[in-house]
Amino acid sequence: MSYVRANNLTKRFGDNTVFEDIEFTIEQGEFITLLGPSGCGKSTLLRSLAGLNPVDDGEIWVNGENITHQTPQQRGIGMVFQSYALFPNMTVEANIAFGLKMKRWGTADIQREVAKVIALVDLTGKEKHYPHQLSGGQRQRVALARALVVKPRILLLDEPLSALDAKIRKHLRQQIRDIQKEMDLTTIFVTHDQEEAMIMSDRIFLMDKGEIVQAGTPEAIYTQPANEFVAGFMGHYN
Ligand code: ADP
Ligand code: MG
Repeated sequence: MSYVRANNLTKRFGDNTVFEDIEFTIEQGEFITLLGPSGCGKSTLLRSLAGLNPVDDGEIWVNGENITHQTPQQRGIGMVFQSYALFPNMTVEANIAFGLKMKRWGTADIQREVAKVIALVDLTGKEKHYPHQLSGGQRQRVALARALVVKPRILLLDEPLSALDAKIRKHLRQQIRDIQKEMDLTTIFVTHDQEEAMIMSDRIFLMDKGEIVQAGTPEAIYTQPANEFVAGFMGHYN
């Protein structure tokens, strides 16, 4: 049985059907990239998995449990957005600790876990800094640490690198992948960047206009595109 299973997911905003009858499975520890052009529904699908945009139809199963009607808190899913969404008036440490405080963890336990993830995302020495004192890459690492500290069973990353410059983006790609492997964390990463998807993913789900048009390894998607859209999007123009 697959770790994540989406059955016939449908999401509408009024008359606008963003996606219909989406189906996929994901294995435990897999790194999946949701790739597709702007507006095809990637963020909406991710937010539906997180419980931020409840679906109109279909079911989401995680580890044998139907989570379709659970609140975002109940799902145990961590999410990082393109814009960091940090608390500007809190230090790095306090930003990361926030989720554990909400869960009413004790101070000593919070300190231990926060120190662990700060080391993991390479922010040691920045504990007392405020977001405005950090670079874009550092802020995004705080956002990642904040998602990781609660030990999510799934990590969702919505274009977390898009706002960063090329050099930092390449470094962070590798860092995200290393951490994900080390934690054996089931991850869905959203991007519209083909190269990023090719380099990072175990499998790519290629989306167009609310449909997953092809799911497969980077190599399979590139060498055996299922249709002209996939071929064109992956850079074959023949
Ligand atoms: P992507 O992340 O692939 O760029 P989105 O999921 O953001 O695409 O958007 C897909 C479609 O859903 C767009 O047509 C967009 O206008 C619509 N949409 C997204 N969020 C909302 C919302 N909160 N209310 C109404 N329409 C929305
Ligand atoms: Mg988006």
